[in-house]
Amino acid sequence: MTDKDERTWTPDDAARQYGIREWGSGLFDVSDRGEVTVTVNGGASKHSVSLLDIVEALRQRELTMPVLLRVENHLDTAITQINEAFAQAIRSTGYGNVYRGVFPIKVNQQSHIIEEIARFGERYHHGLEAGSKAELLVAMAMLRDRDSLIVCNGYKDEEFVELGLRACQLGMPCIFVVETPEEMSLIIERSRKLGVEPMIGARLKLGTKVDGHWSEDSGDRSLFGLNTQQLIEAVDLLKAAGMLHCLRLVHFHLGSQIPNIQNIRAGIREACRYYIDLVEEGAPLGYLDIGGGLAVDYDGSSGGSQQSRNYSLQEYCVDVVEAIQESLDPEQIPHPIIVSESGRATVAYTSVLLFNILTVSKFEPGPLPEAPPEDAPDEVRNLAALVGSLSARNIQECYNDAVYYLESLRMQFKRGEIRLRMRSIGENYYLAVLQKIARLLPELDRVPMVLENLTEQLADIYYGNFSVFQSLPDFWAIGQTFPVMPIHRLDEEPTREAIIADLTCDCDGKIDRFAHPEGEKPTLRLHPVSVDNEYYLAVFLVGAYQETLGDLHNLFGDTNVASVRISGDGSFDVVHEMQGDTIADVLSYVEYEPDNLFRRFRNTAEKAVREGRISVAERQQMLGAFSESLRGYTYFER
Ligand code: PLP
Repeated sequence: MTDKDERTWTPDDAARQYGIREWGSGLFDVSDRGEVTVTVNGGASKHSVSLLDIVEALRQRELTMPVLLRVENHLDTAITQINEAFAQAIRSTGYGNVYRGVFPIKVNQQSHIIEEIARFGERYHHGLEAGSKAELLVAMAMLRDRDSLIVCNGYKDEEFVELGLRACQLGMPCIFVVETPEEMSLIIERSRKLGVEPMIGARLKLGTKVDGHWSEDSGDRSLFGLNTQQLIEAVDLLKAAGMLHCLRLVHFHLGSQIPNIQNIRAGIREACRYYIDLVEEGAPLGYLDIGGGLAVDYDGSSGGSQQSRNYSLQEYCVDVVEAIQESLDPEQIPHPIIVSESGRATVAYTSVLLFNILTVSKFEPGPLPEAPPEDAPDEVRNLAALVGSLSARNIQECYNDAVYYLESLRMQFKRGEIRLRMRSIGENYYLAVLQKIARLLPELDRVPMVLENLTEQLADIYYGNFSVFQSLPDFWAIGQTFPVMPIHRLDEEPTREAIIADLTCDCDGKIDRFAHPEGEKPTLRLHPVSVDNEYYLAVFLVGAYQETLGDLHNLFGDTNVASVRISGDGSFDVVHEMQGDTIADVLSYVEYEPDNLFRRFRNTAEKAVREGRISVAERQQMLGAFSESLRGYTYFER
């Protein structure tokens, strides 16, 4: 980097480098101080808080890295936005009914999230979707508003159905969405027995297929929902029981993260045909539940990839409303209440994973001797000569030679013909050749195929204090990418190309794909780190699914969690703090008994005292350290 570059780099350059103004959706930005800010709408004005200030506040509260930070305001914003956008679409199109959202609990079941959705959502009658008995219990306990729906999806046993019927008895609008004809029989039977009139929905298996990762959730082979034959059976069961008037809702879910608006329109049109025919069969209906699928623009490309969407929230709402109108109006069927089950779009922006960098591994040569040692084999001499002779004209040839000499040198080491120090000198020359090639590549008109991935091969490895498996399971499991960037030093040009490794001893425990508006990147530009100052990175938009699906690989447990609420004057309060799992916690998850482990260790220490290996005082110290570790955080502590 030249002095000139150093002077001209600005926080705006950083914003472009990381695409934050595209994927940040106005909620995250870079300040003049070169720090990532989180922005909330305070009525007429906006307020921004630096993430670094929040990190400092958490440090004072002894919430050490890694921390999952939840910005509660973003939850409220998301609920407001979807409800207001539907209300606006309904107003502008003259649609004859209202919108009722439900949040699918499975997308983030954490109690503070559900509590906040239930509390804030009340003003819009925003309800909850439950896919299991446990989730139904949560919904029944959390929702106080009698106009907020509870939509019960998933396979239901007797207990599930009875719980739902109790909710109806208490005046909660609880709708059973039937997935199989057998379920319909169960609901009819249990509701008769309890003397409670159920509200029933039918989940359709639509023919419409969608783009994106979850395309299998739609089409004939989708796992859930009734095919046409089963739907007719279910309707006939209701008719025979004299309960067709209980069929109130038509439901479909085409898949999560639908990138293409055309698929959404097509799905609604198909579902409306079912709606029309069910009304003609005599069902009152009145609700159309369009499921989830509203996508998040994870990379900020506005539809450039499957991690994105080619529509805005407003467009989504208008298209939904219009598609229903256009389908039902010619048949003169009254407009239903529109229900949607947006999960991802409601919570993704709320959570940010914050972690610090512990160390960096570089693919750069160590100190090189002025000339190869006297006893150096030809391979080492040749590698040294390549460093001098390499130019833009002979790059490919030099690269091929360097690879050949390195392999030959390593063979000599395996045969015991050279010693460790000589191998190291040779490898250093090899790295010097590669680094020089990397510097020359921009001068080439066409990069040879074999060198296309050289930047990735030479990228630094930044070791982060987190676990991919615990905190970003979708990155590992389904190839989802998230925006990642430093939260400070953004007024300084990042000069290193890097990937990020986590703390687990697993080759999948790394982030080597990064969401970006111009397309996914294999490396991330980062700043050089120093031992004296912490370097903090953040992974954004991790509020949906990540907390729920995380696992205990290498026994790294739940991270510390903090929720902040940003006030109208631009200050913030830490409204919830939760210490992450202790080592004792994670050990007990895998059926160890921490007390028993301690007893065993104490016996070992006692034996060592008897054998004269350690003193009693040392025994006490060791026992103290053991029990302190059991109470400690599973992540790296400075
Ligand atoms: N509803 C149902 C039935 C689902 O299976 C899902 C998730 O796949 C959702 C809603 C939430 O979808 P999304 O998070 O895309 O809004």
